[in-house]
Amino acid sequence: MTAVRQITILGATGSIGASALDVIARHPDRFAVAALASNRRWENLLELVRRFQPPFAALLDPGAARELEAAAKREGLRTRVLTGSAGLCEVATLPEVDTVIAAIVGAAGLPSTLAAARAGKRILLANKETLVLAGALFIGAAREAGAVLLPIDSEHNAIFQCLPPSTAAERGPAGVRRILLTASGGPFRATPLAELERVTPEQACAHPRWRMGRKISVDSATMMNKGLEVIEAHWLFGCAREQIEVLIHPESVVHSLVEYVDGSVLAQLGNPDMRTPIAQALAWPERVAAGVAPLDLAQIGTLNFAAPDPLRFPCLELAYGALHDGGSAPATLNAANEVAVAAFLDRRAGFLDIAGVCAETLSRLPARRVESLDDALAADDEARALAGRLLERQALSA
Ligand code: NAD
Ligand code: MG
Repeated sequence: MTAVRQITILGATGSIGASALDVIARHPDRFAVAALASNRRWENLLELVRRFQPPFAALLDPGAARELEAAAKREGLRTRVLTGSAGLCEVATLPEVDTVIAAIVGAAGLPSTLAAARAGKRILLANKETLVLAGALFIGAAREAGAVLLPIDSEHNAIFQCLPPSTAAERGPAGVRRILLTASGGPFRATPLAELERVTPEQACAHPRWRMGRKISVDSATMMNKGLEVIEAHWLFGCAREQIEVLIHPESVVHSLVEYVDGSVLAQLGNPDMRTPIAQALAWPERVAAGVAPLDLAQIGTLNFAAPDPLRFPCLELAYGALHDGGSAPATLNAANEVAVAAFLDRRAGFLDIAGVCAETLSRLPARRVESLDDALAADDEARALAGRLLERQALSA
């Protein structure tokens, strides 16, 4: 009988947090919640604290943390409440914690995820932005501290499962010719191009296959998500940019594929449910039930594949370009995208402005070296400020 894994969830109140807690709750003999962390919605975190009674909880926002602390005390809960960036880093590095689920959305997840890597934790990585902002730094820190990285982004988890066990966690696995990342194509895969200008946040967030947070849902609609995942795959698996290809697969049943030099192509299949990759990584190298319905291929019948259309999905090319330029370019792209997506969700920008602002920000900020967390955060800051100004200018001229 293995020891019960003590788990911290960063981003516990989000969509990945909910899926992770669902799997954890199915296996109290294997998994225990040590700490839950999120941004500022203290009522949502309180609900989880009531249910899982973790020793620690953390909220980034100090006012919200005080509310949570008071409410927990009133209810006789013994959870200790921490706050601020330091509080998030503390729950990511507690000595009694062996596993950290990194599921904060956006660049905001970088400091605590990096802290977990430096502390040598087993990291279940959903926050792809960490690798986009500071891939070399994060991978180097994880290797130095002996942190085990287990991807739970569904595509990367699929690739991880298709690589030989001995090399899956290493860089540049031998014998691999290509990695094929599948993409559903999102809600606008077949929308006439002329209509994209007017699509709404509601339409963009209505993903045909996956239920996810709003930011990643918009990223799926622009396919920036897949672009960020190309960068994520580069760092996780040590593959060159030319070895990573994207394949549209609207059914979202084949979660990604690995092609070997002998012509073999291995794929991982399953229903589109994040509990599968989360359970695979939580139990790795064992397997546990995830509550996911069995895949019924006879009922599905047909699986389709197509190359992505670069005119429809310009963000994909921007991401390949940023990976090519290296240094701070991916961080710049990510920051511009976060600002533009937030503006789109707020109805301050149109859908097509997202790619436009990202391209413009990238072209105005030359890539610089990223050697420290501060370098990554400085590139992030600078790109956010510029993208914000570009959006304002656009709003004035509209
Ligand atoms: P979400 O919006 O549903 O949840 C985000 C979580 O992060 C919430 O708990 C929120 O409180 C927290 N958070 C936000 N800003 C924060 C901050 N500044 N400090 C601390 N916590 C903060 O997002 P999600 O869909 O669960 O996605 C989380 C991450 O997982 C993203 O990086 C996304 O790309 C990745 N991911 C998600 C899915 C999915 O199916 N949802 C799939 C693959 C990868
Ligand atoms: Mg994914």
